[in-house]
Amino acid sequence: MNNTTNQLSIVKCQMSTVCAISTPKGVGGISVIRVSGKEAFLVCDRIFKGNKKIAETAGYTCVYGAIFDDEMLVDDCIATVFRSPKSYTGEDTVEISCHGSIAVTQKILRLLLKKGAILAKAGEFTRRAFENGKLSLLEAETVAEIISAENENELRIANSLRSGATYSKIITLKDKILDICAELAVWADYPDDNDFGNDYSENLVSVIEKIANELDNLLKTYDYGRQVKNGIKTVIIGKPNVGKSSLMNALIGYERSIVTEIAGTTRDIVEEKINLGPVTLNLSDTAGIRQTYDKIEKIGVELSRNAIDHAELILAVFDISKFLTDEDFVILDSLKNKKVIYVLNKSDLKNISKEVIKQVKKQIGETSDIINISAKNGEISALCEKITKMFETSKISIEGGIIANERQKEALSRALCSLIEAKSSLQNGFTLDIVSVLLDESCDFLLELIGEKITDEVADRVFQKFCVGK
Ligand code: GDP
Repeated sequence: MNNTTNQLSIVKCQMSTVCAISTPKGVGGISVIRVSGKEAFLVCDRIFKGNKKIAETAGYTCVYGAIFDDEMLVDDCIATVFRSPKSYTGEDTVEISCHGSIAVTQKILRLLLKKGAILAKAGEFTRRAFENGKLSLLEAETVAEIISAENENELRIANSLRSGATYSKIITLKDKILDICAELAVWADYPDDNDFGNDYSENLVSVIEKIANELDNLLKTYDYGRQVKNGIKTVIIGKPNVGKSSLMNALIGYERSIVTEIAGTTRDIVEEKINLGPVTLNLSDTAGIRQTYDKIEKIGVELSRNAIDHAELILAVFDISKFLTDEDFVILDSLKNKKVIYVLNKSDLKNISKEVIKQVKKQIGETSDIINISAKNGEISALCEKITKMFETSKISIEGGIIANERQKEALSRALCSLIEAKSSLQNGFTLDIVSVLLDESCDFLLELIGEKITDEVADRVFQKFCVGK
């Protein structure tokens, strides 16, 4: 955790006492309303009556009582008291647990507003925690990741962030760059006392290269994180009637696309996220690619072509019970330089001729990426294993840190760019002060990444993504 109080406008956040409903809107067993700020205890005591005043309650303890609107009882509740700095935000905080009813929570919120609190903005509690030095920006972003985690892998990523591994890694690399800057500064001050000949320059290049490699490895975790979160963009393609929708349904495990015997029924793209063991696919079933005069189907075919361009994995489906046609050849042509699994469907049919298999293998070429399946009978385990193996091998260790979102990726890419530029400046014989400026720049981007050198605008962007009450 970053214990230093952040440089951002701390005064601004200390002024007001804010409140919000922290549990999801709706009916539930209980709801929690959070109040944070200098006057949190005072404001709550104006509407709360219990066996003790909140202002007189010790931190980390609860007090039972009820909320009143003047003399009218609103609800009985438990108030949990946190005293500054030992609270999530670092400020005096009260969490009112009441019955989980929309009417009750709204009423309590309105009373708090009437008695001196103001409504918290999205992510304001976490922002205050950040501004009061309770959380680093990376940890604050972790909170958002944990809230939005939908599966175990996503939680693994969020917890990797929480462990502080990314933060420590960035600090270590930044310090290494600063060490080089310090040496260069000595050179600037006493150029005659130091021997900065070729050896020194080569040594420096190799040190910078090592740091750049480490930054690059960290950058690669971004794709892994994105693939876990959003799934590997996978597109099922093939001419009409080869069994794309049947394959999609077999993969999902239930009927999602319309399966018919009339060619061209899937007219738009059907999308679904599925987990194959540790691998998550973001699967789209596309309209078959073929020449068509039907206006709507034409749009579908266009969308399919687009989907191929952006796919990370293509499942190209062929009907093994028939000879390939020109339409299949067009598809095969469009797959060059793509990650493809050639799926030979309908292998359950009895009359598959050796000639067809020969023709198919001749067209596709010698590759281990050909899999026989029967989508209709749900015989797709060979395909699932293939996909899992393909992406498991590229699974990256995230225990040493992970880049979790676009903002972090952007800052890291820039840091890496400046570092590489510093290296080539050195190799091209530029003066060491130019190298030094580029290294400084790289450090600044790393500091931006971990949130220790950011503008209010960047912080605004980070916290806007949170929900109200967090
Ligand atoms: P799409 O147009 O490529 O999406 O194809 P569909 O999934 O709609 O299937 C077209 C036809 O082929 C349907 O009658 C399916 O029942 C049939 N079909 C799909 N997969 C198989 C399979 O593995 N074996 C057999 N025998 N028929 C299949």
